[in-house]
Amino acid sequence: MSRPILARIDLAALRHNYHVVRQATSHSKILAVIKANAYGHGMLRVAQALPEADGFAVLAVEEGVALRNAGIRQAILMLEGFFDASELPALAAHSISTAVHSIEQVEMLEKTALPQPVSVFLKLNTGMNRLGFRPEAAPAALARLRACPNVNVLALMTHFASADEPHGIDFQMTAFQSVADVDKWPHSLANSAATLEYPCTQQDWVRAGIMLYGASPTEKPAAAYGLEPVMTLESHIIAVQDVRPGETIGYGRTFRADRPMRAGIVACGYADGYPRHAPTGTPVRVNGQPSRLLGRVSMDMLCVDLTELPDAGVASKVTLWGEGLPVDIVAKSAGTIGYELLCALAPRVPVIEVN
Ligand SMILES: *Cc1c(COP(=O)(O)O)cnc(C)c1O
Repeated sequence: MSRPILARIDLAALRHNYHVVRQATSHSKILAVIKANAYGHGMLRVAQALPEADGFAVLAVEEGVALRNAGIRQAILMLEGFFDASELPALAAHSISTAVHSIEQVEMLEKTALPQPVSVFLKLNTGMNRLGFRPEAAPAALARLRACPNVNVLALMTHFASADEPHGIDFQMTAFQSVADVDKWPHSLANSAATLEYPCTQQDWVRAGIMLYGASPTEKPAAAYGLEPVMTLESHIIAVQDVRPGETIGYGRTFRADRPMRAGIVACGYADGYPRHAPTGTPVRVNGQPSRLLGRVSMDMLCVDLTELPDAGVASKVTLWGEGLPVDIVAKSAGTIGYELLCALAPRVPVIEVN
């Protein structure tokens, strides 16, 4: 056996979570967001496991082309649109839709000769102040796009800055509705948090990301939404140390034993994607039993507390997150969000699919 770390991707849990989206949004089409290698789960794997999805949302043209080459026929949307006019022929050739968020993108569409039109989601900046046209600038942009033979306008989209907070959407909904003739077009507004918390945002297309992977887009636990973890990161204990009172563990000597302790060394470190900022006390599971991290995470190893787990030892299974240990809990302990941990799974971690 090689190094015992492994990410298990549970495709049944993925399909289950897709059905949670479906149940929550009976009248909307679903764009499964598979940017960032499907939040670390494998872009093609996830796309192929969701044949019912109405479409997929990605970031780069190469991702869209890879999906088409793998036989994916549903809609594909580039969430930030194209970055350069040189991408447009590939978008047209592969029927990849694009967000258009800037006047520069409109100009590129106008100036490039294309064999067939590209489908566009016009992106509105309703308060996030990241990408998009302000509501008052939208009619002029829409008029230019409609006059451009390279363009087929499909929808208006916007993105919420705080759909994970109470009343996080109201002012952006108001801004969106203020666009002249807004209801002449299909709408795409909701991310996972808005889909789950504000059904009024679902409209024609929802863009579901994190919830597909079984992590929570809000402060509520994922299980409260009926979501199941898709990725389980697990490894084994490769060594055990009997630590004496007063001794320290690991780099920086940040953890000091105040009594005799047993420490299990786990083959998982920050080079595998485990957060180095996770402090002593971050939950882990050893043979399915709750335990905790001790001391600093190093590049290839971390240390867990076996003092209360006398049956655990070398070769015991350690779950870093996933089944039985929501990634959101580990993320919270490390001062981040589940999204970041899932996306950061390192390429060196072998992945196996189950179910
Ligand atoms: C990433 C992204 C989403 C998905 O967000 P989740 O919170 O993961 O559901 C939706 N829309 C846009 C524009 C995005 O960039």
